[in-house]
Amino acid sequence: MFCPTCSSEYLEGINRCAECDVELVAELPGSDHDGPPLRVARVCGAADADMIEELLENNGIDVVLQGERTALTIPAAGTLTDVRVWVQESDMTKAEELIEAFFERSDESIPADPEGEGEV
Ligand SMILES: [Zn+2]
Repeated sequence: MFCPTCSSEYLEGINRCAECDVELVAELPGSDHDGPPLRVARVCGAADADMIEELLENNGIDVVLQGERTALTIPAAGTLTDVRVWVQESDMTKAEELIEAFFERSDESIPADPEGEGEV
C-alpha cells in the first residue's frame, strides 16, 4: 500500500498514512512522469541519502527520498534512519551506477597508490 501524497510504502493492513492522514492506495497513481518511480537504493542515515540525492540530481536524475523527514522529526534512539531512494525507470541504470560508485568511493577513503601513475 502506498500513500498518494508522500509515496510512503506501507504494509498490507494499514489503510491510512500516519504522516499525511490520507487513505492509502494499492498503487501510486501515474503522474506526468514516464512511469512509476523505482527503488534503487536503501540507505541507513539521512546524511548518505542527502549525498546520494545531490549526486543524482547533479546528474539530471529526479530523486524521491523516503524516510528522512520521519527520521528528522522523530529522533528515536536506536532507530536506524531507513531512507529509500526512488528514481524514474528511465534513470534507473544510471542511478544504480552512480550509487554504486558513491559507495565504492566512500569505502576507499585511502588512495591506493597516489604516486603510481605509470600503470594505465
Ligand atoms: Zn503520506
